[in-house]
Amino acid sequence: MSDTEVASTRSDSIWGKAILLIGGITLLCCFGMLSYFGLLFYVVDRDVSLIPSPTLDPNCGENFCLNACLRALPNFARIDLPEHKNELDQKAGGYVLASYWVKQADGSLNKLSKPEVPSYLQPYQDDTELHARIWKYAKQIFDAGDQAHISYITFYADTHVDRYAASVWVTSSGKWTLNVNLAEFGSAWDTSETIIHEHAHILTLDDSQVTGIGPWYDEEIDRKDFDAKSNVCGEQFFTGAECARDTSYINEFGKRFWHGQLYEDWVTVFLQGSETEERSPALDEFYLKYQDQFVTAYAATNPSEDIAESWSEFILFPKPAGDSVAQHKILFFYEYPELVQLRGNILSTICQYAVAQTGTPTPQTPAVQLTPP
Ligand SMILES: [Zn+2]
Repeated sequence: MSDTEVASTRSDSIWGKAILLIGGITLLCCFGMLSYFGLLFYVVDRDVSLIPSPTLDPNCGENFCLNACLRALPNFARIDLPEHKNELDQKAGGYVLASYWVKQADGSLNKLSKPEVPSYLQPYQDDTELHARIWKYAKQIFDAGDQAHISYITFYADTHVDRYAASVWVTSSGKWTLNVNLAEFGSAWDTSETIIHEHAHILTLDDSQVTGIGPWYDEEIDRKDFDAKSNVCGEQFFTGAECARDTSYINEFGKRFWHGQLYEDWVTVFLQGSETEERSPALDEFYLKYQDQFVTAYAATNPSEDIAESWSEFILFPKPAGDSVAQHKILFFYEYPELVQLRGNILSTICQYAVAQTGTPTPQTPAVQLTPP
């Protein structure tokens, strides 16, 4: 099913929207993730001492004050229903709770659907204040650039696959949908990292950056099909799903970091179906072979996730001083003045939001945990 067909189902039934949501996730593979893989494999040493904590500063545009801002942010509720865990865990795709369209004039949310859900999920379905709070925070980060316009947002609850906190996907008409998994939206830190990761997908995969040609990451194709698709891209980088445009970030990133034996090894994994529900052992092997080249294990999934994970490190951590390939992937973004400017805008946006939440320059909440547990 193409993304055009996905888009055409938008006005269908509630179940259609649920299918649409699942289809979007599997088709475009733009997943945000929590620290699931980070717990298994961690590359970048997140030494909290590198990020001192001065007082909250709404004009913060660098990492030295970011920690204070993140401390001041309230956590975003995570669905915690131990008595229903088994039932939720077994529900493939989870439950869609509510879908909204975004009024572009003022950014307000307008409810599209409210599907039937088990009674224990209704408090999360009815918590429009939480929906609006998450959306307001995400929108402010997206609006720090001038490209990322979300047209739809869907909140759902899925513990069946426990590592995906959010995803974005785009229709053939260029309209982006943000999907938020309330079962995985918890700490302010995780939420910020997830939103920044999804923002990276929009920055690097919108119409100005790539031309979508498929196959999507969950489609089974053979090597011959892959090579035929790659040939369509000519000299431009083939992400496995899109042709990069000549001057795009992912074209330069892909050509610089995804070539030679690494690319060949990844294609082998990719053709085995790397973006299945469960992470494949082959992908883990691929990551372990090239561990020093990726900022996280999830970054090894494909080039699109690699640039998104590297972007998140670029935004949230100080400029690396090392010389590993993984660190060069972060330094890559410093080559673009407009991205350095955007980084400062995002950090100050986070801090302005934090100041607005607290109304006080002194953070009152416990220190954010920057190291994996
Ligand atoms: Zn992603």
